[in-house]
Amino acid sequence: MALKLYNTLTREKEEFKPISELEVGLYTCGPTVYNYAHIGNMRTYVFEDVLKKVLTYNDYRVKHVMNITDVGHLTGDRDMGEDKIEKESKKENKSAWQIAEFYTEKFKEDLLNLNIIFPDILCKATENIDEQIEMIEVLEKKGFTYKTSDGIYFDTGKVPDYTKLSGQKLEDLKEGARVEVNDEKRNATDFALWKFSSKETKRQMEWDSPWGIGFPGWHIECSAMSVKYLGEHFDIHAGGVDFINLHHTNELAQTESATGIKPWVNYWMHGEFLNMKDGEKMAKSTGNFLTLKSEFLDKDINPLVYRLATFGVHYRKQMEWNNEIVASTETSYNNLLNKVKALGKDVGFINMELRERFLDSINDDLNMPKALATLNEVFKYGISNADKLATILDFDKVLGLNLNIIDNLSTEEVIPEDIKKLAEDRLLARNNKNWQKSDELRDKITELGYEVKDVNGGYEISKM
Ligand code: AMP
Ligand code: ZN
Repeated sequence: MALKLYNTLTREKEEFKPISELEVGLYTCGPTVYNYAHIGNMRTYVFEDVLKKVLTYNDYRVKHVMNITDVGHLTGDRDMGEDKIEKESKKENKSAWQIAEFYTEKFKEDLLNLNIIFPDILCKATENIDEQIEMIEVLEKKGFTYKTSDGIYFDTGKVPDYTKLSGQKLEDLKEGARVEVNDEKRNATDFALWKFSSKETKRQMEWDSPWGIGFPGWHIECSAMSVKYLGEHFDIHAGGVDFINLHHTNELAQTESATGIKPWVNYWMHGEFLNMKDGEKMAKSTGNFLTLKSEFLDKDINPLVYRLATFGVHYRKQMEWNNEIVASTETSYNNLLNKVKALGKDVGFINMELRERFLDSINDDLNMPKALATLNEVFKYGISNADKLATILDFDKVLGLNLNIIDNLSTEEVIPEDIKKLAEDRLLARNNKNWQKSDELRDKITELGYEVKDVNGGYEISKM
């Protein structure tokens, strides 16, 4: 079955047709790094990782770009309030740069713990200020901007199809926008492209620009960086559903206005929320959240249990979190590992019928609950254990549940914790393209009598 994806823009499940057979361009919005990412955020990143792995399973090469919002996201999403990172810097008594650096590193650890493949390009807003200024200049030349006392704004009144992504009536969007009042805006939905530094308080992160010293608005970074790395027209843009009405709507309006090329993006994909019990929102800004560390690592539960848990609900349906999910999924994960181990170590041939079924599930708009059902069928299927194992290892390219690693370690061999830690650090270094550090760590591991091999974006360790 051909790959079908639900496109928020057309509100339909569509067959995926890449712009180029050579490479699929994928942009996903990354974290605002002023706090730990919570397991709600992680649901969106796992969904995007599955998307990427499904594309790869379908033989596409993917170029994945993700941003790190390290400046410009204000406490009021609509350009009012304090910069989230500068605010946190006062709270923690560190510099804004240190805050951003610290939480970016924590975020990378989360990705690693969840077997999420690192983006090919992980780009920071603060390292692409010139590109953002350039795009604002283009918008200015084309007459889409105006100046107020606190910044340069985008005039949404000049974009007739401004609400095309959300499909909302303009009146409804305006209503939401009125919550944060700014009398100088021409339209309630207008948004800041560049904000001036306030005269009263000195900002830590600020830059000179044709309009004065200040910092970029929240949305412009994604437009400028995606165009820089993926071009003016690319395949897929993804994020959580909360981005549809505001962040993505604004990214879309400003990019198409700047480039004049429509569509900017062919497929828009959005993951639904993971909520606390009774639909309560999990939000970084309110501090009402759980992290991978608090719920899994600190309790010595394998974080891949979380990854597996998210597969139980289709990405376009809301998911309610509770402690029973952790307990029952931990049991399911251990059962799964034991069943895989019981298949032995011989790897036979992938069963094509089962593969076809698995492909049908994942290609049906990433239907992971169905894919899990197919995984379970493998154990009951009338084929040899070796073929079952080969089939499961093939599925694990999408599942990312370390079924391969467990198999390879399923002899009596136990890898000491300190060796595992060195291998984890090395993977992190590799993902950061810090080749020197990665080589040093490999040497250290070798000195201690172990061999580390790179496999499927992860690693395998064995005693030499
Ligand atoms: P942020 O760091 O808040 O800008 O969000 C990072 C990503 O997580 C975005 O794609 C959001 O849409 C997504 N997100 C935020 N909260 C949740 C949640 N409770 N469940 C799922 N995704 C979320
Ligand atoms: Zn974005």
